[in-house]
Amino acid sequence: MGTTVMSAPRTELMYIDGEWVRGSSEETIRVANPTTESVIATVPKGTREDAKKALDSAAKAQKKWEELPPLERASFMLKMAHMIRERKEELARVLTTEQGKPLFESRLEVEGSASHFEYFAEFARRIEGDVLPSDNPRQTVMILKLPIGVVAAITPWNFPSAMVARKLAPALITGNSVVVKPSSNTPLSAVEMVKIAEEAGIPKGVVNLVTGDGSEVGDELCGNKATGLVTMTGSTEAGRKIMQSASNQLGKLILELGGKAPFIVWRDADMEWALKCAVWARYWNCGQTCISSERMYLDRSVKGRFLTKFVEMSKALRIGDPLSKGTDLGPMVSMRERETSERFVELAGGEGSKVILGGRRPTSMKKGWYLEPTVIDGVQQDSPLVQKEIFGPVVPVLEVDSFDQAIDMANDSDYGLASYVFTKDNGNVMKAMHKIRFGETYVNQVGPEQLQGAHTGFRMSGLGAEGSRYGLELYTQLKTCYIDWSDRPGLPYLFPYN
Ligand code: NAD
Repeated sequence: MGTTVMSAPRTELMYIDGEWVRGSSEETIRVANPTTESVIATVPKGTREDAKKALDSAAKAQKKWEELPPLERASFMLKMAHMIRERKEELARVLTTEQGKPLFESRLEVEGSASHFEYFAEFARRIEGDVLPSDNPRQTVMILKLPIGVVAAITPWNFPSAMVARKLAPALITGNSVVVKPSSNTPLSAVEMVKIAEEAGIPKGVVNLVTGDGSEVGDELCGNKATGLVTMTGSTEAGRKIMQSASNQLGKLILELGGKAPFIVWRDADMEWALKCAVWARYWNCGQTCISSERMYLDRSVKGRFLTKFVEMSKALRIGDPLSKGTDLGPMVSMRERETSERFVELAGGEGSKVILGGRRPTSMKKGWYLEPTVIDGVQQDSPLVQKEIFGPVVPVLEVDSFDQAIDMANDSDYGLASYVFTKDNGNVMKAMHKIRFGETYVNQVGPEQLQGAHTGFRMSGLGAEGSRYGLELYTQLKTCYIDWSDRPGLPYLFPYN
């Protein structure tokens, strides 16, 4: 009889001023594998003191980093992209082991991380300011885009690799230095990314990593005057707290927060395609994606047919070990996240709503934080199932009688990140583009978002944007210079004091 040999948890460190360090406290954070529930690694539980040291190191290093021509900064980033692609398999395994998404999804995420470095490296020759005519003769007005200084990059657990890349890449190309603070659930992908930055030769202090609690390390990074920009992806609740701490230093903020994407299927849609998209949009990453479909609005005339098929397809998803080939749905990231989703499922039953699929922990899995694909029909618009973010494989279903009604119900939300519309009618498409008040509308397709698109949220889904040239600009500080090049400097109104 064989026995399962559990390997000892590995010990990872923080990276401050070019050194891998334990930090000022002996305390550690235990990182668990959501599939086996066992501890796979520890990372230091950083303190305010560690955060301050990292900020100091970043501030010092930034001065030289900004002196490099952008093309040189880009060459480090392209090296990183190359190394990420070379190590794709190894990085994808680390990601799946700490986060739980199926390996094929982790591979896609790791490729996405490399693409972020490539995309932003392309801007090396395009961080363009403006040269403007002056109101006066022989003068010129120039607007420069300068680095901000130190960027605090605070990342969530649902895309532990790509979110680090999404913040590091624009910060580095624009001449900023960075302190990364990953989620305590999934710090290992961030550790790997920083190791790659080190191996790619990025000068010491330009990239730092501090692990620890949001309420301590995160809070220090946001409120400290050494920070010039806070870029955070995470929950709306944490985003609010970050705004408060950042007000201490009146720093710039980019917040990518929660979502509650409506998924509208109109009667003329290509049903087969819409069904495939509906399955991916809800169950991708076990429903833990900020752009996940979180409420389906189905045209009443096709609802019965669509829902029967959707339930069949949801049921057919293969739940299993995310490292195994053929697994469609892995576990959720933590026991806590599963319990939060389960509490939403418990709300079903009121006002005629009913769980028509799932809602339980699958009996086929002896370990792991799994939850079955869950469909709840007959849900009312004002239910928390429709109004609150459900970060798991649970979807409420509603029916609509007109396309306008679907748009109104979609907009009736505190959130405004992603939205989906399936229709062949051009009028409906245009209406959706103009009237759905969300930062992204996917028409007859699903995500993930693309690098050249601005990933941005209306209402409580965020502030600013990531990706695209609009996102890049937020990593720069505008400065206007007024230059007099006349032979006889000075203007009559400036010195009228004869
Ligand atoms: P979270 O808000 O709990 O944590 C995100 C990060 O913020 C973590 O690193 C955490 O330690 C840190 N943090 C928490 N409180 C803080 C504070 N007071 N000061 C400074 N830092 C603090 O989010 P999560 O649970 O890791 O991620 C899930 C959430 O992220 C979901 O709501 C999801 O919709 C959202 N998300 C949004 C996007 C997007 O692009 N809009 C992408 C992915 C995830």
